[in-house]
Amino acid sequence: MIVKRTNLNFWERLYLPAVAAGFRVTLRHFFKKKVTMQYPEEKWTVPEGYRGAPYLVKDPEGRTKCVSCQLCEFICPPKAIRITPPGPLPDPAAGNVEKAPREFKIDMLRCIFCGFCEEVCPEEAIFLMKDYSLTGLARQEMVYDKAKLLSLGGVRQDGVWKWKHK
Ligand code: SF4
Ligand code: SF4
Repeated sequence: MIVKRTNLNFWERLYLPAVAAGFRVTLRHFFKKKVTMQYPEEKWTVPEGYRGAPYLVKDPEGRTKCVSCQLCEFICPPKAIRITPPGPLPDPAAGNVEKAPREFKIDMLRCIFCGFCEEVCPEEAIFLMKDYSLTGLARQEMVYDKAKLLSLGGVRQDGVWKWKHK
């Protein structure tokens, strides 16, 4: 099939109207609100309830809330959680403390951010935070250990404490 080329008229042969139309589009966008985000320095503000990466939290006295019950490890669909229970008591003055994990690892490459761990945790010790951008140079870097999970999770100001001093 041969497509017939239509001849350009006088104005089209000048090309100037087409150049002017192009500049009009450029100018229109020049004065519009900027939408380019300087990622990764700038990040999206995610809505309340967003399910990002799961981290461990501490109570207001800085103690690990997790009692190493392993429910989250059991429920986790992709088996991203690995817990080594129990660890030594972090604080001998902690009275009727149950137990604490010796090690707690989450493979962020496996995690699907489903939130089951947060829902099942009886101690409110693990929460899905707002982090959606996790990076690393090696697979091993993406396996977060207890220290890293606790430092990222920070302190949770709520009324659910594993134990209180006598
Ligand atoms: S959010 Fe889901 S996949 Fe990720 S660690 Fe928790 S239970 Fe496992
Ligand atoms: S994070 Fe919660 S569910 Fe998981 S082992 Fe600790 S106390 Fe149990």
